[in-house]
Amino acid sequence: MPSRRYTILIADRTSGVVRRVTISARPAVVVACALVTLPVLVGIGAAWKAKSEVSSLYASNQSLEAENSNYRGATKALSDQIEVLESVVSDLGAGAALDPSLARAMEKLPAFVKNRAMGGSATSMPSAQPTAYAKTLSALATPEDTFGLLRSVLEGLQNRLHDVRAMVERRNALAAATPAIWPAHGWLTSRMGSRQDPMTGGEDFHAGLDIAGEKGQPIYATAAGRVSQAGYQGAYGNLVVLDHGFGLETKYGHLSSFNVKPGQDVKRGDIIGRLGATGRATGYHLHYEVRANGRLLNPLQLLTQQKPRDQ
Ligand SMILES: [Zn+2]
Repeated sequence: MPSRRYTILIADRTSGVVRRVTISARPAVVVACALVTLPVLVGIGAAWKAKSEVSSLYASNQSLEAENSNYRGATKALSDQIEVLESVVSDLGAGAALDPSLARAMEKLPAFVKNRAMGGSATSMPSAQPTAYAKTLSALATPEDTFGLLRSVLEGLQNRLHDVRAMVERRNALAAATPAIWPAHGWLTSRMGSRQDPMTGGEDFHAGLDIAGEKGQPIYATAAGRVSQAGYQGAYGNLVVLDHGFGLETKYGHLSSFNVKPGQDVKRGDIIGRLGATGRATGYHLHYEVRANGRLLNPLQLLTQQKPRDQ
């Protein structure tokens, strides 16, 4: 069916010219419809685009949030680990505390003994300095910076832990080797130094302590070590010599009997023999000597622990 056609007349009143325009209905309707729907379509398109942009922004925001929370989680876990390590280090340094009297005895050891054991002070430990990483952490911009810092803090802690542990082990070895307890219960009848010889009455240098007691009383190892000698030796009578390492040596004389053999390892407090009066002795007593690299030490200086009955 052919489209209906319309003619529009346009007349100029002054000149009398008339123009006619003929249009068919269908294209006119199409153009009118297009004119009406175009803005609507443009609006719908814009709305759709905006909506998809918003949803993609939302999605990327969510993934960023997830990433951020993973990052925070990892950082928190690392920080927690660092805190645990730091407390371990400071516990090792401070908490691996020696018995104070034993520490005092160790401090009285000659410097060369301490140097041999520790390379310095026997009782002070490397300090566990608190790391101010938490403050720095918040100032760092990128995860790489943060993890780099945390890694270096962890490495530092690991090294310190290693140093502290080595130091604690050396200190404990020296502590075990320090002759810090009394070798026998009894009366202290003679100290180290010049004295009148109990037999001849002449001038005499006494190399250790005499502790008088009853025959058969236990004699104790005053520190951990190895028996280097257990036998009769001249004026000492029955003598036990203990080698404690670090150049330290103790001697126990005039024993009535032996509880140890040469080469045997002993701990502090082990019974090594029985009190007697063998060798050059006027009565039942223990003669006790401490030496460091062969030089006499005053045993009383080191006896910071249990005390016997004094005269
Ligand atoms: Zn003596």
